[in-house]
Amino acid sequence: MKPNRAAIVTGSTSGIGLGIAEALCASGVHVMLNGLSSPQDIEAKRRELAERYDVEVAFHGADMSKPEDIRDLTATAKAIFGKVDIVVNNAGIQHVQPIEDFPDAKWDAIIAINLSSAFHTIKHTIADMKARNWGRIINIASAHGLVASPYKPAYVAAKHGLVGLTKTVALGAAEHGVTCNAICPGYVMTPLVRKQIPDQAKARGITEKQVINDVLLKSQATKQFVTVEQLGALAAFLCTDAAAQITGAALPVDGGWTAQ
Ligand code: NAD
Repeated sequence: MKPNRAAIVTGSTSGIGLGIAEALCASGVHVMLNGLSSPQDIEAKRRELAERYDVEVAFHGADMSKPEDIRDLTATAKAIFGKVDIVVNNAGIQHVQPIEDFPDAKWDAIIAINLSSAFHTIKHTIADMKARNWGRIINIASAHGLVASPYKPAYVAAKHGLVGLTKTVALGAAEHGVTCNAICPGYVMTPLVRKQIPDQAKARGITEKQVINDVLLKSQATKQFVTVEQLGALAAFLCTDAAAQITGAALPVDGGWTAQ
């Protein structure tokens, strides 16, 4: 990786975002962390990454459901690093419930955080990337950006939308050295997945153990969870010049789920 690249990784205080932030730091990229967590937890993670990888690591607490916060996040990253070369749109939430009972507020929050936030981060950073003739936008979609499962109307709609956004941004930036791709993970055992296990059990009338084996891993042909390290490695590769011709792609990392 060329030295002094700078990235924003949204939702990077936990799970996949933190794994991607770490992989970018390990490649020598300065990173703006973002997410919702306690100040002590965030500061410990920020300092650990900065010291271990000898890069600048900052934090901005933008609520990714709020366009004005997102504008401030991108402006702050530009002010601290002088530029933003890489944007990883990872912040996301989940809610599992049949559509007839699905709360309106959950629909709005999932569309805002999982889809609209990516529109805003890209809108505020892509012009500079195009002007410098180098940029990388990585949208963390999901296998649910390619196929559906029941009881996830907002999540599946948002992730399919994110794949569509990825394609149109890729086409618009293709002649300016800027790539835009979606990574579509299968199940990764992060807090987001752990939290939905009781809801899935309730919605389906089965035990939590059955949710893991018969629902979450049912479609993953490998019968294994994807790891945050595997996703971090792919994101870091997409930021290399070797990946310059990969754009507009929705890349499954799902243990064979969407091959079926
Ligand atoms: P996670 O719950 O561990 O992390 C989510 C991150 O987003 C956290 O840092 C959280 O603080 C942040 N966040 C949530 N709401 C926010 C808000 N309003 N503003 C700012 N930050 C906010 O979840 P994860 O599993 O690591 O998920 C990360 C992304 O990966 C999500 O977009 C998710 O849809 C996607 N994904 C996850 C899986 C999986 O199996 N875990 C599979 C496919 C896709």
